[in-house]
Amino acid sequence: MGQRQTNPASSDTDVLIIGGGITGAGAARDAARRGVRVIVVEQGDIASGTSSRSSKLVHGGLRYLEQGEVSLVFEAVAERRILLEIAPHLVHPMPFLLPVFGDSRRGMFTINIGMWLYDGLSLFRSPKVHKTLSRAKVLKAEPALRSDGLKGAPVYYDCATDDARLTLETMLDAERHGAEIRTHTRVTRLLREGRNVVAAEVRDQLTGEVSTIKAKAIVNATGPWSDDTRALDGTIPNPRMRPTKGIHIVVSAKRLPITHAVVCLHPTDGRVFFTIPWGDETYIGTTDTDFEGDPGEVNATSEDVAYLIAATNDYFPGASIGTDDVIATWAGVRPLVSQEAAETESSVSREHIISVEPDGLITIAGGKLTTYRRMGTELINQVLETLEDRGLGLTGLQMPETDLNPLPGAVGWPESGDCEAVAERILSASEGLLTERTAALLSRSYGMRGINISELVVADPSLGAPLIEGRPEIAAQVVWAATEELAATISDVMIRRTQLYYRDSNQGLDAVDMVANLLAEQLGWSSSEAETHAADYRTEVERSRNWQTE
Ligand code: FAD
Repeated sequence: MGQRQTNPASSDTDVLIIGGGITGAGAARDAARRGVRVIVVEQGDIASGTSSRSSKLVHGGLRYLEQGEVSLVFEAVAERRILLEIAPHLVHPMPFLLPVFGDSRRGMFTINIGMWLYDGLSLFRSPKVHKTLSRAKVLKAEPALRSDGLKGAPVYYDCATDDARLTLETMLDAERHGAEIRTHTRVTRLLREGRNVVAAEVRDQLTGEVSTIKAKAIVNATGPWSDDTRALDGTIPNPRMRPTKGIHIVVSAKRLPITHAVVCLHPTDGRVFFTIPWGDETYIGTTDTDFEGDPGEVNATSEDVAYLIAATNDYFPGASIGTDDVIATWAGVRPLVSQEAAETESSVSREHIISVEPDGLITIAGGKLTTYRRMGTELINQVLETLEDRGLGLTGLQMPETDLNPLPGAVGWPESGDCEAVAERILSASEGLLTERTAALLSRSYGMRGINISELVVADPSLGAPLIEGRPEIAAQVVWAATEELAATISDVMIRRTQLYYRDSNQGLDAVDMVANLLAEQLGWSSSEAETHAADYRTEVERSRNWQTE
């Protein structure tokens, strides 16, 4: 379990889920916990699509209040509460400061009414109830903020997360309950028997092997790829998606020191963007531009980066952020459902749709990270109903209780404990071999499973070595990623298991050889395979830096 398996020539299952993003993961966890047999296939790594490229917020969506979408906000804040309970190591309350200037579109009074409504919709169970800071208090709290025209600021609470690890842990929980997870495996064709799709042809992207998976129901949870997936049965369906691109930039917290997420309006077009504290870094985003093409090829452009830098410098004039300050960028494609499809399809909410295609493929599209658990339940309800209608109903299933059961890193979480308490346990389990900084990192990334990583170091102290001198990430994380967390490439480890790609000033390039050696040992790579994987990672970093030379 937890280690990537190679594919058998053919297999069969109750439900095949295409797509290992948060939507596929939520559905897999729900189905597996009910006792449904599930296989998930993901063409890349878990969360390598949009689900590792979001703003990393678990939020109610304050902006929906402005649009009168009260029920959407109610639903999202309820999910926020559940995720705080089932993943306390990955979902953390974060204060958001919304500075109000003399020329702001909304005055303090109106914004405060919105804040009361927002708190009220969470039944006053937000991580904390909002408060209003005077101009002087705002400047004390965030000294880097522009003072010109500043009136004051409400501070409200939402949550921040690690989107890739939230997706991964959701998938690992599904695996624990019997789901089979095949990463780096792409569906190349959907096969029909009569009118219905009954099987998928899949290709292992690392070995080139082709095999077939037969399933009673096939689910398309491929986010921004969902129109392409619908066409894999050889038809040309009407497009439903209207994808847009959003990018973020990362700078050192030394260059932009903030303690709240600051909600800003872009000075030229009035769009909302955030500056978000992220430990030793700060990230800024996002943009929103139409996107056409392969979502796998999406990248930040120099124009995107300049747009965010200009707005940041408008709000934080003393920071004078320049392009040289940008450590890394990420770009993602929002799987937005077109207005037309939302109106004509069996729309469950304005944010996502679930539809049964004429050939029986069940597509879920749209939605957001925050509401993934609920989307998973709705989707699996639809799958079971469809099977029932076709005379293929499943029996002996249980309630999934995905809202009550913790994700793997929260199993055994100390009663009324927090990440600091867990970090102490990790530290003491390490018998003095780990630093406090590493223990803190492990507790926020792996929760209680950080203790297992500590034990790896005790068994082999060489695994306590830092991946990069002066940084907290250690070799044991690489071993853990390969043996327990489905990692199969250097990019999987650098980008989505450790975040070195985003946080290290050289995007983890100085650790490539060490990571390649550790993975080679765990995954049985030859030296030439290890070299190829290292070259792939270097290319990926280079590609993400193309905006610098445009
Ligand atoms: P994806 O994560 O893209 O997963 C689909 C997967 O399908 C991919 O991994 C892909 O590789 C795989 N796939 C595609 N084709 C095939 C095939 N043929 N065979 C096998 N696998 C295949 N939401 C929030 O709640 N909070 C936020 O702060 C937030 N911020 C956002 C900021 C940005 C810039 C963006 C773009 C989105 C943001 N969202 C946010 C929305 C959220 O990130 C997405 O709704 C969510 O991640 C979509 O997940 P998904 O699983 O549907 O799609």
